[in-house]
Amino acid sequence: MQTTFTAEQLKDSATRESNTILRTCVHCGFCTATCPTFQLLGDELDSPRGRIYLIKDMLESGRPATEEVVRHVDRCLSCLSCMTTCPSGVNYMHLVDHAREYIEHTYQRPLPERLLRRTLAFVLPKPGRFRLALRGAALARPFVGLLPQGLFRTRVQAMLKLAPKRLPPPEPMQQPQVHKAQGEKRGRVALLTGCAQQVLDPGINAATIRLLTRMGIEVVIPPGQGCCGALTHHMGQTSKSMAAARANLRAWGKAIEKGGLDAVVINASGCGTTVKDYGFMFRDEKPKWKSRAEQVSALAMDITEVLAKFNYAPLRPTPNLTVAYHSACSLQHGQKITALPKQLLQKAGFTVKEPAEGHLCCGSAGTYNLMQPEIAGQLKARKLENLNRTGAQLIAAGNIGCLTQLGDGSLPTAHTVELLDWMAGGPVPPAVRGVLGARREPVV
Ligand code: SF4
Ligand code: SF4
Repeated sequence: MQTTFTAEQLKDSATRESNTILRTCVHCGFCTATCPTFQLLGDELDSPRGRIYLIKDMLESGRPATEEVVRHVDRCLSCLSCMTTCPSGVNYMHLVDHAREYIEHTYQRPLPERLLRRTLAFVLPKPGRFRLALRGAALARPFVGLLPQGLFRTRVQAMLKLAPKRLPPPEPMQQPQVHKAQGEKRGRVALLTGCAQQVLDPGINAATIRLLTRMGIEVVIPPGQGCCGALTHHMGQTSKSMAAARANLRAWGKAIEKGGLDAVVINASGCGTTVKDYGFMFRDEKPKWKSRAEQVSALAMDITEVLAKFNYAPLRPTPNLTVAYHSACSLQHGQKITALPKQLLQKAGFTVKEPAEGHLCCGSAGTYNLMQPEIAGQLKARKLENLNRTGAQLIAAGNIGCLTQLGDGSLPTAHTVELLDWMAGGPVPPAVRGVLGARREPVV
């Protein structure tokens, strides 16, 4: 694709990067075939190719973003399915991230939307605030009908629907500390305990710590780490996402200096995609930050990669359960981890089924299900139907967003690591208890 940026515009590093990306696109349109929003809406401007054109015009013109561009970029899930399909290697992720940042700086959204986005950016990355907000959601539920009809009400309804009716108690294992390896020490890792995940389902981090320490790996929960920055990054709020990333680099830097790390382990694949991109995010920062970010990106591993590296082995007999594996977009498209989680589940003794249209997003996509509830709802229904059709007894996935999105369907959901921990000697995951109870078999 030809571009016409001026020499002045190309002095800006983000524009230079986008220019390179745009020039890689040959506008073949292969990507449209696997784009969820194009599949649902059938509008070229809601396809990757259409968005690439819109972003190109917006950046080249140097003018503020228009309502039209914002509408179509906002509808993008950042699922990155287009990157898997693209034969030319177009880095759509970096392009759309730049577009979102540009929109944030040049476009004024309507007041209710600004308030909503600010609230989400203030609440979600901080576990204490998020926990409080979820308690508030329980109180607010009966009053939502009093809000005037419209998108704002639909969004509030979507938020309340996603908020769990009962919150699990805080998990002390997630607090900053060092979990010693059991038996002979084989490795040392830092675990990103995340933000929303540690409130919504603390059992995921607990299962990760149990499983790794049982395998002889010391797990460090460094003080000072927090949200990976993805939530604000995808809203174009770069200064906030960089501050979050910097806090993590500081925390993990100290852990590296204290005893070295074999990996920074991430068990929410949305966060993993972002941490693996820290090297790019800090490319223009001072050498100290740039090299630390590159080091951390190189160390960042999804939990399934770590388990494979340290040769995960089950200890219990085959569970005789069929699992539908839902491949989170951030894992399959963002990190290109496709076969590994299924192989580990099979090694643990599960029968693994894959749903049709496995490449399509479930509609969760960070805060997308709150900002675009209608499209997210359609994608969720389609995903649940495909998962149900597998005939499996439960759904496994490696991302808290997907687990929350799919959690109120007819099948129970579990994080992959909870199932692997169970088969390696851990407790029965809550999702499995119901299945075992239903078939009246003894809990292993
Ligand atoms: S598949 Fe790749 S090269 Fe073709 S239009 Fe899409 S982004 Fe451009
Ligand atoms: S990231 Fe997903 S929704 Fe966005 S353009 Fe690519 S395929 Fe479509």
